[in-house]
Amino acid sequence: MSHEVKAEEGPSSSTSGSSSSATVSSVDTLPTQEPLPSIPEEGEIGEGNGQGLKAWGRLFGLSPGFHNLDCVNAEYSFGRDPNCDYVFQRLSELYQQTSKKHFRVIREEPGLGVGVAYLEDQSANGTFVNGTLIGKGKKTPLANGAEIALALPFNKVFCFCDLMDNNQSMGFPSALKEKYLISKTLGTGACGEVKLGFEKTTCLKVAIKIINKKKCFRENDRPFNVETEVEILKKIDHPCLIKIKDFYEGEDFYIVLELMEGGELFYKVRRPAKLSEETSKFYFYQMLLAVQYLHQNGIIHRDLKLENILLSSPSEEKCLIKVSDFGQSKLLGESSLMQTLCGTPDYLAPEVLRFELGAKEGGYGRAVDAWSLGVILFICLSGYPPFSETPQKTLRDQIRTGSFTFIQEIWDHVSQEALDLVRKLLEVDPIRRLTIQEALHHPWLQDEEMKRTFQELVSKAETPNSPLKGRKRQRTEDRLVDTPTKARKLQQ
Ligand code: ADP
Repeated sequence: MSHEVKAEEGPSSSTSGSSSSATVSSVDTLPTQEPLPSIPEEGEIGEGNGQGLKAWGRLFGLSPGFHNLDCVNAEYSFGRDPNCDYVFQRLSELYQQTSKKHFRVIREEPGLGVGVAYLEDQSANGTFVNGTLIGKGKKTPLANGAEIALALPFNKVFCFCDLMDNNQSMGFPSALKEKYLISKTLGTGACGEVKLGFEKTTCLKVAIKIINKKKCFRENDRPFNVETEVEILKKIDHPCLIKIKDFYEGEDFYIVLELMEGGELFYKVRRPAKLSEETSKFYFYQMLLAVQYLHQNGIIHRDLKLENILLSSPSEEKCLIKVSDFGQSKLLGESSLMQTLCGTPDYLAPEVLRFELGAKEGGYGRAVDAWSLGVILFICLSGYPPFSETPQKTLRDQIRTGSFTFIQEIWDHVSQEALDLVRKLLEVDPIRRLTIQEALHHPWLQDEEMKRTFQELVSKAETPNSPLKGRKRQRTEDRLVDTPTKARKLQQ
């Protein structure tokens, strides 16, 4: 199998680097997102150049016009110059900002060192590795998962995967490694790390959540029926819920999730840059739809908080949000959930705290999610939490009695309708608290324009080149109507 490394040039191949607009007659004919070529299977790697050489690295194209490259040779040059090994496409949006010779990727001879890969910047236009400018004539080691950007730090065009880095997949189950390439760490949670991964056949980026068994479970506390629970959770299908794609068990548990590139809502709500009321409403509507779907499918989230609401876009304010970490107790048993809940009670409903104190009756049900959503909405609208420890009253006491304060100069800018919804969700008595269904019918959320925008975003996310590609989807509302049947199916 031969590996073509040169990208196709536009119809009139020019080396001058002058504007390419003359060669592009109609922008309409251009695909907005190029489908990424599929990655060869494990067995195929190494036959890269037909000479039996093994690929030592792989560059995943992150931007339209940048195809993947399997690195087999010791060196590759990148740029607009047709003599480069990897020629930038004229159709790429970044074409104007790139140099004829932009950078080189070099693999140190394994016999001379540890076989490290380097990037050498050859351009005055700027080459960035993980956000740092390298500088013309300088080089930097390319670690597994390194992101390469051109001209500006956020113009990411490649993610480097070091195929010789054994550490990257140490301890990972082989079935996981067969299907996914594991890349850099995205973040660390209470129970382990979350890594960036690539599905080999589709090049789709995924998040791989590693649940450290030693950290999260006491001896003999292994949750049972994990596989059955995963099968149930894999059927959960809603545009506002993180899709669980796969699950593996090895040294640890590995949950493959849909990747959310926008990070946590937590980072968007801190004062003074709090969310506008309009954006808060847009996100909150989606959270309600997600939780409504979970409840209809017999799942109570129980750990709703800003950190578990992930955004699809790092830049667009009006974007899809997704709720994560649902079904945790089903997947990992009560002990893991309790471990999370042992942290700060910021979002915990009063009835959970009463239960903690040993109340004989009550326990808690779906209403706990409505309370947590009330706390989230309060923070989105005001930029501060409704309950926080004071010398006069502990956080737990404040929650138990539902004592929160609306600081006037902040809430003066918030509509009465929004404030009314917050009050009705932060109702101490779970029986009187609004249900998710009732919250969706609250006057504040009767906003047709907002619902239309949401539907448009969902449809866009479901177009052929989106990460949701290939999954047949109904309209969101139809799916919600369908849920009782689905709920029965899921519970079978
Ligand atoms: P916790 O256990 O504290 O809930 P997680 O393990 O879920 O935390 O997440 C740890 C980090 O990984 C967080 O910073 C989170 O934003 C990130 N993360 C988790 N899931 C995803 C995902 N699906 N896409 C992108 N980032 C994610």
